[in-house]
Amino acid sequence: MSDTNALDALIQALRRLPGVGVKSAQRMAFHLLQHDRPGAQLLAQALHEASAHVHHCERCHTFTEAQVCATCEDVRRDRSQLCVVETPADQSAMERTGAYKGLYFVLMGKLSPLDGVGPNDLGLKKLFERACDGVVQEVILATNFTAEGEATAYVIAEGLKTRGLRPTRLARGVPVGSELEYVDLGTIAHALVDRR
Ligand SMILES: [Zn+2]
Repeated sequence: MSDTNALDALIQALRRLPGVGVKSAQRMAFHLLQHDRPGAQLLAQALHEASAHVHHCERCHTFTEAQVCATCEDVRRDRSQLCVVETPADQSAMERTGAYKGLYFVLMGKLSPLDGVGPNDLGLKKLFERACDGVVQEVILATNFTAEGEATAYVIAEGLKTRGLRPTRLARGVPVGSELEYVDLGTIAHALVDRR
């Protein structure tokens, strides 16, 4: 492959990224070293900073550099509504609609038994505690309309029902199999208004 250990280590490190195989990892490594040394430095610095300082919000689990994220801290948000999304990207999509003023719980994933992701990995215990805190009046399930997203919504809904809560689900305007992140904002806003 190559005769430098540092280059091999870089290629192996790049392969840790999702969807990156040997060929792509080699291409990225060669590009950085051959054409973009400043970029390589920037990337190294950014990775170092982010991995050292970005944590999960202790309330909603999204990424933040503070103990509690800006959204959870925002006193103008409606604390009676809690919207459950899979990822920070899905949360951003909800935010961009401008139609939602409540708080979030970000699962940072979805139930996926085949990949070994179970209820504990998604912090569902914490979600249920939060849903039952007396402040939250409505839990809106906004997981994606994929098989895994639906299964995740089902498990959360069952967990909430056993605790006497009735969650709502985004309406079916969102196309089956789609991820919120890629759905147009008007569709999400409608699905939010029409939730059941
Ligand atoms: Zn938060």
